Amino acid sequence: MTKDAMRLPWQQKNWMHLAAYRTQNRIPQALLVIGNKGLGKRQLVRQFANSLLCNQPQDDSFPCGRCSGCLLFQADTHPDFLHIKPNEGKTVIAISQIRGLIAQLALKPQFETYRVVIVSPADALSTGAANAFLKYLEEPTERTTLILVTDKPAKLPLTIVSRCQKLMVTAPDKAMFLAWLKGHSPDISETVAATLFGLAQRTPLLALSYLNGQVLALRNECFRDWLALAEQQAHPIVIAENWLKLPEPQLIFWLSSWLIDLIKCYYQTGVDGLYNPDLSHSLQTLALRLGPKKLYKLYDLLLKNRENSQAQLNKQLMFEELLIQWYELNQDK
Ligand SMILES: [Zn+2]
Repeated sequence: MTKDAMRLPWQQKNWMHLAAYRTQNRIPQALLVIGNKGLGKRQLVRQFANSLLCNQPQDDSFPCGRCSGCLLFQADTHPDFLHIKPNEGKTVIAISQIRGLIAQLALKPQFETYRVVIVSPADALSTGAANAFLKYLEEPTERTTLILVTDKPAKLPLTIVSRCQKLMVTAPDKAMFLAWLKGHSPDISETVAATLFGLAQRTPLLALSYLNGQVLALRNECFRDWLALAEQQAHPIVIAENWLKLPEPQLIFWLSSWLIDLIKCYYQTGVDGLYNPDLSHSLQTLALRLGPKKLYKLYDLLLKNRENSQAQLNKQLMFEELLIQWYELNQDK
């Protein structure tokens, strides 16, 4: 990756903050990096790790990319760099992993620079692992920094959070988002770029993965199903069964974005503020036909179901209930 591609414009302030730690020689013993998925948190902390392992960093603390420390880091063989994550096929970081880490940290770093441990996702620490980790934080070793990364900070024990310096990575504004996305996908249309801003909830890397993957196509297909139900040309039970095979959090988000957009269309708030500007024509027609009362009713049902879906209730029933309701709302026009 070229140096410029490594710099994400919305992280500029974050980088200055990290660089200041380095230039002022007050590297935190534990740093917690928080921010939504798709903002490049891991890329940021790897850059910082690389900077701490570099023998000749540049003026802005960016790694030189050429010294022995940088070369070892790039080859993933730097002995003073560790990445703790759940083992293959597991969702949690086990206590044995943290015990192994602590044993290793009891030894001095092998080189003269820092030693860096990234724990990501930090919310995957099991309770036992978190406790072992906490003990280590009470007696940390020299020239060692631990960097915890999470998009779910509420899942971390407060005792750990309180012992870390915090760094928040936030989403760019719309102009920066669009400029960056167009820079990475020059052929993208204005409408698709604006649509991705809403669908990826302002997170550029997620938007790019949506564009390169088939997410947008899948969402269009689901919207066609949704329209077919409104036109009474499909059966809600059949569609619910098909949707069951798709990623649920995304579907729930799409459904709520369509309903919010329908309500906005009814009140004519303008295409610019929609999650789905590319669907505005269909949405406007539907909104006028249904009116706000029915839309709010369905939105309430969706919110209720979204809470239940977090509690892992029956997903098939949830989609059936939502789609039957949508089908019926469109019946008595
Ligand atoms: Zn270097």
